[in-house]
Amino acid sequence: MKLACFDPGRRFMGRLSHECDLLEEFEQLCRKEGIRCAVFTAIGALTRATLGFYQQEQKRYHTIELDFPLEIASLSGNISIKDGKIMAHAHAVLSDENGRSWAGHLFPNSTIFAGEFFLQELVGEAWERRFDPQTGLYLW
Ligand code: ZN
Repeated sequence: MKLACFDPGRRFMGRLSHECDLLEEFEQLCRKEGIRCAVFTAIGALTRATLGFYQQEQKRYHTIELDFPLEIASLSGNISIKDGKIMAHAHAVLSDENGRSWAGHLFPNSTIFAGEFFLQELVGEAWERRFDPQTGLYLW
């Protein structure tokens, strides 16, 4: 286990922008506010989404394209640094008009219809993602 203790920083609550990319919205907010480490949650709706399931044996993502309106039943994520840049990492449970749901790692090209979020800044040395050969993932 890797562990660090962070002090709580600012807390933001806000509305996500219509037709913007969800991950980019969080990265843009963090660049603007100088946030390098944070956790966030969101609820709302997307016009489309790309989810991923990590195939552990093959060490690659299988992606699921959802090209229809979706509710964000639950979304949580974090902010850290990868290749010197702010990176948002989020997982979501999304549902359709019949309540069927899909869940997984959220990829870019997931477009906001409307959304509300809460973001907690964490103060301390920001964690950087590095390639981990054991998993094939960029981990802290
Ligand atoms: Zn993930």
